[in-house]
Amino acid sequence: MFYERLHVTFVGVLATLVDSVVVAEFAGYWLHRLLHSDKIPALSRGHLIHHFLVYGPRQPMRAHEYRDATDHRFSVGNVGLEWLVPSGVILLFCWGVMALLHVPHAYEVLALCTLLGWPILMFSYLHDRMHVENFWMAKVPGLRTWFLKARRLHDIHHKSLDSDGFMDANFGIGFYFFDRFFGTMAKRHRRFNWCGYKAAIERYGLDEAELLSLQSCSKSLFQKTDRP
Ligand SMILES: [Zn+2]
Ligand SMILES: [Zn+2]
Ligand SMILES: [Zn+2]
Repeated sequence: MFYERLHVTFVGVLATLVDSVVVAEFAGYWLHRLLHSDKIPALSRGHLIHHFLVYGPRQPMRAHEYRDATDHRFSVGNVGLEWLVPSGVILLFCWGVMALLHVPHAYEVLALCTLLGWPILMFSYLHDRMHVENFWMAKVPGLRTWFLKARRLHDIHHKSLDSDGFMDANFGIGFYFFDRFFGTMAKRHRRFNWCGYKAAIERYGLDEAELLSLQSCSKSLFQKTDRP
């Protein structure tokens, strides 16, 4: 049998997949929270370009095409350094833990592939499609209900600012069980906090003038500009 040759069992494979997805969701949730916490301002700034300049409060949540926030800075595809660097660290950490625990090689490879693939699928592919009209999942019965529900929660994430200008709800993308668990779930839209918005814009030196420069491809958004 295929399983025996690889020294794995069906249950083992299933457990590895489930565990890896849970770890990936957990890491994604906390990384997203970190990006909104201002603990590492350079990382936060990268993510907030997506929130305040590209899909800001005066812009529609969805358009014909995805407008990415990495035009004038380093990225892989449209994933910026603010996601890549911490994800690399997390992946290395998981690898180290598995090596220490002497996890069989086949499971280790499967876990690492899942830990890499799941976040790409959820936090990159699915997330970006939430900002695009007519995504195929919105038309497939079965997937449709789940996708539209998750998308609505992500819309709420974009609109939920506290008075210090920090986004405080719905950090999951496809799944929100860690939001439920850690008490950051918001199922309803609330009034947009313009005072919070102003605080955030000032903190990161982001404003819509920079959006114009993003569109004209003329200036690096990753550099803070001092304006009077
Ligand atoms: Zn966010
Ligand atoms: Zn978004
Ligand atoms: Zn450009």
